[in-house]
Amino acid sequence: MRQIKIEKISKSFEGEAIISDLSLTIPAGKFFALLGPSGCGKTTILRLVAGLEKVDSGKIYLGEKDITNIPVYERNINTVFQQYALFPHLSVFENVAYSLRVKREKEKLIRDKVFDVLKTVRLLGFESKSIKSLSGGQQQRVALARAIINEPEVLLLDEPLAALDPKLKEQVLIELIDLQDKLKTTFIYVTHDQFEALTVADQMAIMNANGRIEQIGTPKEIYEFPISRFVANFVGTTNIIEGQLRTKNGDFEVEIEKLGNFMVYAPAKKEWMIPGCQLFVSLRPEKIYISKKTMEGFSNHLIGKVHNIIYYGRSTQYDVILINGKKLTVFEQNEEHFPQEIIDYDDQVNLYFQKENVVLLES
Ligand code: ATP
Repeated sequence: MRQIKIEKISKSFEGEAIISDLSLTIPAGKFFALLGPSGCGKTTILRLVAGLEKVDSGKIYLGEKDITNIPVYERNINTVFQQYALFPHLSVFENVAYSLRVKREKEKLIRDKVFDVLKTVRLLGFESKSIKSLSGGQQQRVALARAIINEPEVLLLDEPLAALDPKLKEQVLIELIDLQDKLKTTFIYVTHDQFEALTVADQMAIMNANGRIEQIGTPKEIYEFPISRFVANFVGTTNIIEGQLRTKNGDFEVEIEKLGNFMVYAPAKKEWMIPGCQLFVSLRPEKIYISKKTMEGFSNHLIGKVHNIIYYGRSTQYDVILINGKKLTVFEQNEEHFPQEIIDYDDQVNLYFQKENVVLLES
């Protein structure tokens, strides 16, 4: 298994730069997600890696091998597209067998391999079915079977679940994780859906609308320690609050106008963290405890008035207006404290959170 290394690639279409000087290393044998807003250039990157488009400049390596100018069929990289591009007039078997037939492989080998991959994607028994008679999820699995039959080193997945309904999406995501675990093939999964990326990825890269990578890390690192307002907002839901950096007894605090000082935690001091500087903090809604009662043991405390309540079943969202007039969103797990305290519209509430959950972001 070899890593993919993208080195300073650029690509323009009709004079418009889509990707500029982009570098990225995708570790071997991992499930890697490339997450970014629609139109930021994710598919373009996949197409460049697959060899379906040519880079204007830069290099792409598979392990040590420079594959920048190697044709698609010699790259040992396969792609599953958003539209599965199956042949509707061929059976499941023939769709999966297609590339082996093109290579004029022996009938026995074709049968063995097709049955083997159909077993892997749990479609044994579907061989003679027509594509049209399959559900969206089953078609998706045929597309996967077709993509893995040649045992590619890298599998590129371009929004492969776009056509599925949310319930089925969750199920197929789990199946994809299992499949990657079993094959140990490097998966590069492109999506604009943060839930999908967080669910499947061992590692993920976040691209912004300008086609630049803002952050790379594990889903947990990116969710817990976003490095920019864009990442904090794009991955999950958060509260972004503007303030000024202060120091007290050698520790950082953030002063918020009309609210006072928050204790914060900055494990890695960055050069922009200069006392007095304007900055933003990100505070995830589920990191805030809401109660009408007084509680002990928290670094930070705010008071507000409940403006809106949305019941989601698993959790409840409270929008609370603080004394500076700004809104803070709080998520409370419904099963956590049962029987739950009754909090209603216009109630005055205490909001508590720990300094470790206040993430500093450069202005
Ligand atoms: P989505 O999530 O909507 O699929 P994306 O991040 O994958 O978006 P791309 O499909 O890579 O984005 O497209 C990036 C930009 O490049 C878009 O503005 C698109 O119109 C443009 N683009 C992509 N391919 C071509 C092409 N062959 N010719 C001209 N413009 C193109």
